[in-house]
Amino acid sequence: MKEIPYKIYLEESELPKQWYNVRADMKNKPAPLLNPATLKPMGFEDLRPVFCDELIKQELDDTTPYFDIPEEILNFYKMYRPAPLVRAYFLEKALDTPAKIYYKFEGNNTSGSHKLNSAIAQAYYAKKQGLKGVTTETGAGQWGTALSMACSYFGLDCEVYMVKVSYEQKPFRREVMKTYGASVTPSPSDKTAVGRKILKEYPGTSGSLGCAISEAVEAATSKEGYRYVLGSVLSQVLLHQTVIGLEAKTALDKYHIKPDIIIGCAGGGSNLGGLISPFVGEKLRGEADYRIIAVEPASCPSLTRGKYVYDFCDTGMVCPLAKMYTLGNGFIPSANHAGGLRYHGMSSILSQLYEDKLIEAVSVEQTQVFDAAVQFARVEGTLPAPESSHAIRIAIDEALRCKETGEEKTIVFGLTGTGYFDMVAYEKYNSGNMSDYIPTDEDLAKGFATIPQL
Ligand SMILES: *Cc1c(COP(=O)(O)O)cnc(C)c1O
Repeated sequence: MKEIPYKIYLEESELPKQWYNVRADMKNKPAPLLNPATLKPMGFEDLRPVFCDELIKQELDDTTPYFDIPEEILNFYKMYRPAPLVRAYFLEKALDTPAKIYYKFEGNNTSGSHKLNSAIAQAYYAKKQGLKGVTTETGAGQWGTALSMACSYFGLDCEVYMVKVSYEQKPFRREVMKTYGASVTPSPSDKTAVGRKILKEYPGTSGSLGCAISEAVEAATSKEGYRYVLGSVLSQVLLHQTVIGLEAKTALDKYHIKPDIIIGCAGGGSNLGGLISPFVGEKLRGEADYRIIAVEPASCPSLTRGKYVYDFCDTGMVCPLAKMYTLGNGFIPSANHAGGLRYHGMSSILSQLYEDKLIEAVSVEQTQVFDAAVQFARVEGTLPAPESSHAIRIAIDEALRCKETGEEKTIVFGLTGTGYFDMVAYEKYNSGNMSDYIPTDEDLAKGFATIPQL
C-alpha cells in the first residue's frame, strides 16, 4: 500500500468538471419552495424577480445528476483549488488514537472559507445575464467577503447587508469587502422598509441573518438590473459546493481510502451538503455506507431541536417558504461566536436526508468547540474558524472513542475556513470569559410561534 502523505494534492487536471446534484438520486425529494402569497410551488417565473435565471434552473432541477462547470468558473477555481485533503497525523498522535483522521481544508483563499466556491458561480451567472450587480446578506462576513471577491473579478456591483453585531465585532472583514469594492451596510438598517419595520419592533437588536436577508431581497427587487444572491441554504449553493466532496472523493480514491465517518459543521448546510453529496449518492444508490454527522451549535440547534415544517427563510417574511428543520423565522440566536452557524433553518436537501435518517446530527457547546479549536491549532498548525471547529470537536470525540474501543476508523471532516478574523472570540476563550448559552424550551417556543400555520 502506498504511504499516505500529509497532504493529498490533486493535479489541476483532476479538478471536477461538473457539479453533482444529489437530489437526482434522492427517492424522497426535498419539498418545493412555496410562493408565500399563493402557497403554490414556486416556478421559474415566480423566482425571476429575485434570482438570476440560470441559478433558478439549478434551484428547481431535482432530476439532472450533473451540471457542467463553465470554463470561466473552472479557471477561477484554479487560483485556489484543488484544495488539499490533509491527513491529521499530528492530531492523531496527540490524541493517541488508532483512528485515521483526514480533513478537507477550504481556507486557502483570501475570503478564508469555502463560500468562494459558490460566490464565483453566482457572480458568473449574474454577469452572463447582463446584470449590473447583486445584493446579499452576510453574518460573520465570510460570504460577503467571498462575494465581493467574485464580483470584483467579473466587474459587478456588490451590496452587502451585514448583521449588525458582526459589522461592529469584525471591522476587518468589513474592510476586506470594501477593499474588493463592495458597499457594506449594517443590518437592520433604515435603508429598506423591512429594516425600518424590524428596527421599530425590536429597537436595539443586534440583527440576525434572517433580517439581513429580508433587507437584501428588498434592495435587489426595488432596483433595475439587480438580483439577490444567497451564500447558503439554497439547493443551488449546495450544488456548487459539491466541488469539495468530489475533490475529497477523488483524493481518497487515489489512495484507496474508504471513510467510515464523515463530519461537517452545519449552519445553512452548504459545506456539509457539498462535502457529503458524492458519498450520500453512493449511499442512496446502495453502493456504499457511511456514517455522516452534522454538527451544529447548541445555541442554534435547528436539526437537533427544530421542527420539520414549512417556514420563511427570512425574518421579514418576503422570501419563499421552504420545508426545512427550523427554529422559526423569528428565532434570534444568542450572540455566540460562530456567526456562520446562526441561521434559524437548514438546507431543504439536508433536512430531507436527516428526516430519512441518512445523516445524523449533534449539537455542541461553544467552550467545548474552542477547546477543540485550540488543541487542533497547536498540533496541526492551522488556526481554524469557530464554525469549522464544531466539526473538529466531533472528529476528536469520535477519535477518542476509537481509542477506547481500539477501532481503527477512518474519519473525514470538513475544515471550512480559517479563524484570523475571529480573534475577538479567541480572546474571550483565552481570557476565560467565554460562556455557553443553550436556549430553554421556552426560548425555542417563542421562535416556533413565528412559524406560519399553513
Ligand atoms: C458560512 C460558514 C459555515 C456555515 O455555512 P454552511 O452553509 O452551513 O456551510 C461554516 N464554516 C465557515 C468557515 C463559514 O464561513
